Amino acid sequence: MPTERLADLGEFGLLARIRARLGSSYLGDDAAVLPRTAGMELLATVDAQVDGVHFLRERMVPQQVGRRAIAVNVSDIAAMGGLPRFALVSLLVPADLSVAWIEALYDGIRQETVRWEMQVVGGNISGTPGPLTLDVAVLGEVETGCALTRRGARPGDPLFVTGDLGRAAVGLHLLRRGESGSLVDAYCTPVPRVGEGRALLRSRLVHAAMDLSDGLGSDLYRLCEESQVGAVIEVAALPISGEVRAAAATVGLDPVGLALFGGEDFELVVAAASNDAGTLQRVVAEVGTPLTVIGEVRPAGEGVTVHLPDGSKRPLAGGWDHFPGRHA
Ligand SMILES: [Mg+2]
Repeated sequence: MPTERLADLGEFGLLARIRARLGSSYLGDDAAVLPRTAGMELLATVDAQVDGVHFLRERMVPQQVGRRAIAVNVSDIAAMGGLPRFALVSLLVPADLSVAWIEALYDGIRQETVRWEMQVVGGNISGTPGPLTLDVAVLGEVETGCALTRRGARPGDPLFVTGDLGRAAVGLHLLRRGESGSLVDAYCTPVPRVGEGRALLRSRLVHAAMDLSDGLGSDLYRLCEESQVGAVIEVAALPISGEVRAAAATVGLDPVGLALFGGEDFELVVAAASNDAGTLQRVVAEVGTPLTVIGEVRPAGEGVTVHLPDGSKRPLAGGWDHFPGRHA
């Protein structure tokens, strides 16, 4: 049987099949009518994933591409301490993609939305002369007035990070070499820190938080700008696993550079009062994730710096010689 193409089936034919696959009760009208929960505010975020920039179609199965596009958006809801609820998916498809591939992509979208108890409530599909692109919007909810934000970090606050760093960046290098395993999975299907964000919100102890999509080396500047503070990162304190160090060695990359600038880890960076450090570490540990102190918030005039194990200090931006590009 010849491979079925979008042109054979038509956009409406494909949409009907995808609707059946997604099993969402919100699809079928011009716009979705969505319920809201009393006492909650709406969170909204959008992020486009482009083949060759944010994922590698040739190296990933379609389910991974679909899951990743949802997960990176859910991470932004997690960063605010919220619960993801709804997703809208706009898909731009090059002519060479088969209908079976697109259906498998939506299977991945469904897997990831089911995981977070979300529903796909809208979207569209169009042909494109450009690369495969998934533009996903996610709506979430958070208790009114309680959202975690990037504002509020104060000089003297310890800086924390969930989990460990550099996994996705080294995983991308392994993926390019055709390898598989847990580090490759960390890149292909990142796990947004929803439970951790909820635990942090419930603690009511967080001064500022954000998720790490581009890497600490650039995202920390955004948090510092919004809070109008500086920061220092202790390189020796960065949580970098033995697995990441070993894999970095095999691809000839500096694990610290990967941890700071590799990006795509989707961990949370958090600032809170030093007196509350133990409590915060305990509530996040209850979700199953370590929360590591990696540095300290400083006055704005000190800028954003890194402390090296030899005692020297340098600006975080441009201060590292061997960092890899973040993009696929
Ligand atoms: Mg973000």
